[in-house]
Amino acid sequence: MPRRFHGRPLTTLPSVELEARAETYPLAETFVISRDSSDESESVIVELRHNGLTGYGEGAPIERYYEDGAGAVEFLHTCRGALGGDPFALDEILDGLPPAPHTQAARAALDNALHDLCGKLTGRPVWRLLGLRREGPPTCWTVWLGDPDDMARRAEKAAPRFRRLKLKLGGRDGLDVERVRAVRAVTDLPLQVDVNEYWSVDEALEALPQLAGLGVEYCEQPLPEGDPGGARVKAASPVPIYVDEDCHTLGDVASRVAHSADPLDVEAVAAAELQLEPSEAAGDALCSPGGRRAAISSSAHGSAPGSAASRYASADSADSS
Ligand SMILES: [Mg+2]
Repeated sequence: MPRRFHGRPLTTLPSVELEARAETYPLAETFVISRDSSDESESVIVELRHNGLTGYGEGAPIERYYEDGAGAVEFLHTCRGALGGDPFALDEILDGLPPAPHTQAARAALDNALHDLCGKLTGRPVWRLLGLRREGPPTCWTVWLGDPDDMARRAEKAAPRFRRLKLKLGGRDGLDVERVRAVRAVTDLPLQVDVNEYWSVDEALEALPQLAGLGVEYCEQPLPEGDPGGARVKAASPVPIYVDEDCHTLGDVASRVAHSADPLDVEAVAAAELQLEPSEAAGDALCSPGGRRAAISSSAHGSAPGSAASRYASADSADSS
């Protein structure tokens, strides 16, 4: 049975047309995290045209999850037949996309573009369409992983422009607490840390109380994805434990939060389900719109930026995780 819109069969409406392309952006400086470094950032861009308007969306393919721009574009081209003529039918469209692994960034870009298009069709910005606050969650700036003194210098430089800083840790050199201490010595801004899976349970148990003493608000993904020690670290930690790499879909949320984390990290550019609201068990969500990689002010990984479930957002230079 064909979908209907205001009582009319959708077959009478013009189809939503899709164009997709990959773009590569050079970074102003090399961005370093525990497991890799990057000098450029790749995005997949989606344009959806309907009734004379164009909705734009962007996603960041993540190599760690076997994604790249070319693959994302190829997948998006296979989605054209699933778009139909009603861009407001978000659930039906997104549920009807071809099943394919390693396409989260592409789905995120399409989801963003649909929201942007719906906003334009109704003459309202997406934050209004979703009933959110305009200002969204507070943003932070990510200080990439480096020597303690170097991180402190970069933090000091960024501090006047941001209300909080996220420090990348996981140097595996015994200096992670020193990194936070060095930054704390140059700024009173709220600090958050992201280990990107590079601590052991013992390292986490040793470092977290010290980070609490330095006023760290939360620690993101201290252990490798799926580490069975997560529950032990969560129980012992004096600061909230956030997960990022541990959560990829809504199905991961409740189990991870119940087991090994408090809130979770939500990446706009990796989110294929922009409107998802975390379950009660999920608690708060950390929303990372992905800084310049996100085409619209949005962001399991899942919830919309600025939603009641989102407390923070990252204005990262190249934080893809
Ligand atoms: Mg992260």
